[in-house]
Amino acid sequence: MRLEEEIKRRRTFGIISHPDAGKTTLTEKLLLFGGAIQEAGAVKSNKIKKGATSDFMEIERQRGISVATSVLAFNYQNKKINILDTPGHKDFAEDTFRTLTAVDSVIVVIDVAKGVEEQTEKLVEVCRMRNIPMIVFINKLDREGKDAFDLLDEVEQKLNLKVTPLSFPIGMGYDFKGIYNVWEKNINLFSGDSKKNIEETIAFDDVTNPDLDKIIGEKSAKDLRENLELVYEVYPDFNREEYLKGDLQPVFFGSALNNFGVRELLDCFVDIAPTPLPKKAEERLVDPNEKEFSGFVFKIHANMDPKHRDRLAFIKIVSGTFERNTPYLHVRNNKKLKFSSPNAFFAEKKEIVDISYAGDIVGLHDTGNFKIGDTLTQGEALNFKGVPSFSPEHFRYINNADPMKAKQLDKGISQLMDEGVAQLFTLEMNNRKIIGTVGALQYEVIQYRLEHEYGAKCTYENLPVHKACWVEPKDANSEEFKEFKRVKQKFLAKDKQGQLVFLADSSFSIQMTQQKYPNVILHFVSEYK
Ligand code: GDP
Repeated sequence: MRLEEEIKRRRTFGIISHPDAGKTTLTEKLLLFGGAIQEAGAVKSNKIKKGATSDFMEIERQRGISVATSVLAFNYQNKKINILDTPGHKDFAEDTFRTLTAVDSVIVVIDVAKGVEEQTEKLVEVCRMRNIPMIVFINKLDREGKDAFDLLDEVEQKLNLKVTPLSFPIGMGYDFKGIYNVWEKNINLFSGDSKKNIEETIAFDDVTNPDLDKIIGEKSAKDLRENLELVYEVYPDFNREEYLKGDLQPVFFGSALNNFGVRELLDCFVDIAPTPLPKKAEERLVDPNEKEFSGFVFKIHANMDPKHRDRLAFIKIVSGTFERNTPYLHVRNNKKLKFSSPNAFFAEKKEIVDISYAGDIVGLHDTGNFKIGDTLTQGEALNFKGVPSFSPEHFRYINNADPMKAKQLDKGISQLMDEGVAQLFTLEMNNRKIIGTVGALQYEVIQYRLEHEYGAKCTYENLPVHKACWVEPKDANSEEFKEFKRVKQKFLAKDKQGQLVFLADSSFSIQMTQQKYPNVILHFVSEYK
């Protein structure tokens, strides 16, 4: 019984946003509510500042911070809340995509003035594909921004969501007076003209009550009544089932910096957000309440100290409990492993714990056994699905610049790829190695880390590849597939798992190939089975 109760208390989620929308600020305010930190400024932003592209110190600093903020856990209203960090910088988007395989829901932060931005669109699309329940938080209401209804339209159209506002702003920017909480049916007002504190929360389930005019002024009262009428008329009622299926997204308004609207968001979140969800393995669906432990690696973090090449593998516990010093099966290697010092996370600290439950994240010290996507179980041979690689955007040959260090280079490349820093492709024709990344910044990170952690030197050579397409022939013995392989020989490579990949030089070439070889299917994600 204890197991089920513990699991039911857990809420594991990620906050996603375009950089600067206020993810770090919101995270910090959530932690303050949980009493996990005492002061503002304790949560470090893990973004790379503009112009820091060639600043290796910045990259190193970034790595340090992202260990610290990988998981931030706290208790609130007897719920154990795990926030998984998702880098906003687009060069680290893959890291974020993978982290999204370990969350049970997300909060999307949008800047009221900027509206829906590029990175938000991409991340929300990934969540939508997986039907992850989402709550939208429109931030920075203390500033002038877009009209609330226009923003709701924009969210619906650009993000392809169906929204329902659970709070509504009273004024904005200079005139921002507070928020009507549709969910709890009350009004939260700022105190005087300082926008720092909530003066009072007034229960108000009937906005036609003339007292409203006295409290917020005639004009604001009139506007609010009209706005709410429209809200009730135009938007569907909130329905938790639909939210949990990913079919309806509640929207909150507020200002993270001023801690306004954050408690409302958090209170609603703990009420409605899903408890740990069942997860598909290739073999079967695994329920979190199963007694036997299972989990998967969604992130690997290299140690900051180059002298110790151990790494921290982050495991999302899917079912049961993970216990210290207990042997678990590493399914891919078919090997039992024991962990004497598993790390759990609390606020911005990590500590060794004896037991963790489904929904939690544990950090395991690893000397090179783990790859992203690996499954650990109590004994059953399960393989969890869903840590896909997307096609990289940049491709370069990697060359060895120090012939004496060929082994070190190979080892370094292999381990960095296991960490998911980038993707490795080996050309079929001549075995040359190609590194594919989401952003150009990764090449510098790789070069720097190969040198400092493995003592190897590399150079790069540009390669005019547009996209990597994973190849799946309908019939591997068909003449069509044989011809495809012959004609495209120069463009074929294997990925790290040995899957066949077609490196297309343009979107036109992808189109032509699809037309010419209709029975050779091209996939843009590595996990297509
Ligand atoms: P992130 O990149 O999404 O993590 O964004 P940050 O939390 O670092 O915020 C980016 C900037 O916006 C910082 O300067 C914050 O102080 C500021 N900011 C965050 N929330 C608010 C808000 O509610 N109002 C205003 N005016 N500024 C905010």
